[in-house]
Amino acid sequence: MKSYLSLSEIRQDITTGTINCVGLVNNYLKRIEEKKELNAFLEVFSEEALSKAVEVDRKIKEGKAGRLAGMVIGIKDVICYKDHKVSGSSRILKGFTSLYTATALQRLLDEDVIVIGRLNCDEFAMGGSNENSAYGNVLNPINTEFVPGGSSGGSAAAVKAGLCHATLGSDTGGSIRQPASYCDIVGIKPSYGRISRYGLMAYASSFDQIGPLTNSVEDAALLLEIMAGQDEYDSTVSSEPVAAYTKLLNKKDKQRFAYIKECLESDGVDPEIKIRMQEIIDELKKDGHTVEAVSFPLLEYLVPTYYVLTTAEASSNLSRYTGVLYGQRSPKSNDTNSTYFSSRSEGFGKEVKRRIMLGTFVLSAGYYDAYYAKAQKMRRRILDITTEILVDYDFILLPTAPKTAFRFGENTDPVAMYLEDIFTVQANLTGLPAISLPVGQHSNGMPFGIQLIGRKFEEGNLLAAGHDMCKKLRVLA
Ligand code: GLN
Repeated sequence: MKSYLSLSEIRQDITTGTINCVGLVNNYLKRIEEKKELNAFLEVFSEEALSKAVEVDRKIKEGKAGRLAGMVIGIKDVICYKDHKVSGSSRILKGFTSLYTATALQRLLDEDVIVIGRLNCDEFAMGGSNENSAYGNVLNPINTEFVPGGSSGGSAAAVKAGLCHATLGSDTGGSIRQPASYCDIVGIKPSYGRISRYGLMAYASSFDQIGPLTNSVEDAALLLEIMAGQDEYDSTVSSEPVAAYTKLLNKKDKQRFAYIKECLESDGVDPEIKIRMQEIIDELKKDGHTVEAVSFPLLEYLVPTYYVLTTAEASSNLSRYTGVLYGQRSPKSNDTNSTYFSSRSEGFGKEVKRRIMLGTFVLSAGYYDAYYAKAQKMRRRILDITTEILVDYDFILLPTAPKTAFRFGENTDPVAMYLEDIFTVQANLTGLPAISLPVGQHSNGMPFGIQLIGRKFEEGNLLAAGHDMCKKLRVLA
């Protein structure tokens, strides 16, 4: 099948009769079968997707189809879809079926999106390589010896490998943007409070957001526009009106970009990524934009602050998995304590346990002030300084990750893994929107993304700048 970069290309072919939804779904199902070794899907909804395709084809003929007719998506296994299984890629939720549909997904379904399956990820979205899934690694379709990134590894691999047109992921500290960077696609984390979290499995509730992974900024804008906005089931969603992002993409304003000087000076950043950053800075200047270096003195505090706060929230959020209400109950259960103890010991993987313990520790009475309270104060400082930069500049330009994807098993030290999140967590700590753009190609054969952080709820500007940068700077493999 022809590979489509955007839904508008698919719609053109539907209009001319070259393709229809049934044909599209059949092609994706064939690709999923051919690329099974990638392990991107945990479950494929073959029959359901085909019957939905018949229905959407009929609606198209009748002129009654929604805005997403022709789009086939996969969903990360942390997003609830009524009457479908959802497990957070964890053993502890084996056999659990969603009781309701996430608001973000419901809005896409209302516009006739077709859901083809649920996608593998790091357990409860904790990780950056998809090596923490209870259901095995996802392979990077560009080179299967490399990780696809995480935690939305299945979501990124599926888009890159053409197993579906677009996917939904979730981003607590980079889980949409970093796999997008490792797999050469577009990924956006919206502002905190832009999209409802109702039906998203909670990892760290004051950080989590759902977002799209796509081949084009155009599709990201469309999906975001449909998913965003107030929801009676999530009071943290903002009442700020949702702009028509798709109509803003061709805005031609001259923008002001800041890049963080310390990050280009850091030894931890791959030299080829630094060179590409410099090239992009030069290109943007040539285009008439202002690009200036700024200092961000809190760079070294980003990762520790993120890991203290997210593990604290995770330890609380994951306390609901006891073997009583959801999923698996250990056969060794014979009273309340043994039910909790055995079900959790058997059900959670190593990384999730590590984070629950760390989170419980930083919240414990004796250490609360030293860790949790201090990290909250640091979060505020990070927000203040980042906001100050965004008074003078429209965007902060930085790499999505310090390196490209790595080989399986190469990164075994948890702290070294956490440090890879250095450039993505700033947007989550501050609640700002950020996009990863596929504009880098490394001599090791792997791609890498460059990231823009924008002002809160200014996704429209962010997408327009991203669209322009992709048009001019994308190196499509
Ligand atoms: N790699 C980060 C972590 O492990 C990001 C996770 C995420 O965004 N869900 O926490």
